[in-house]
Amino acid sequence: MVTKAEADAAGGLLLEVITPGRTVLRQRVESVLLPALDGYLGIMSGHAPLVAGLAPGVLLYGPKGREKARMAVSGGLAEVAENHVRVLADAAELPEEIDVGRARAALERAEERLRRWDWQVDVARAEMAMRRALARLRAVYGKEARDEGAFAPGERHLGEQ
Ligand code: ATP
Repeated sequence: MVTKAEADAAGGLLLEVITPGRTVLRQRVESVLLPALDGYLGIMSGHAPLVAGLAPGVLLYGPKGREKARMAVSGGLAEVAENHVRVLADAAELPEEIDVGRARAALERAEERLRRWDWQVDVARAEMAMRRALARLRAVYGKEARDEGAFAPGERHLGEQ
């Protein structure tokens, strides 16, 4: 595990992603893209301090201007201070940890609830479940997640980013 001092010395950021059960990631990176509530937030070394709410989505991290690694976060909070990006989330997974079948089933369940549109459905809850499932599928497949078989062709969804 890299220390904060080592990350500083190398001119990068220390990215930490922490959930109640575990530290999912602690790594030195050049750049982080956070799925903030109002859109993606790009963070590089020297960024001003901030606290931002996160939506369920894909967090990208890695080298500047080149392909980045992905991970799913269920929403939460990000804090940036002194080249340290700390993400606190209820749940977060690396692509290799994601059970695709479970995410597809969660997506189908949420979509079925939203299609029903009756008064018993907690729409906000179903929408958040759908976004978490989509984030997991996108962390595995990228933006093409919808082409991977779980989705009705041409369907538009509230969770599209
Ligand atoms: P589900 O309905 O399948 O439980 P969920 O979105 O309600 O999905 P969360 O409440 O976000 O699940 O997560 C509960 C725990 O299960 C967390 O530890 C999370 O990392 C893990 N988890 C949820 N879905 C998956 C998945 N598809 N693959 C791996 N881990 C998952």
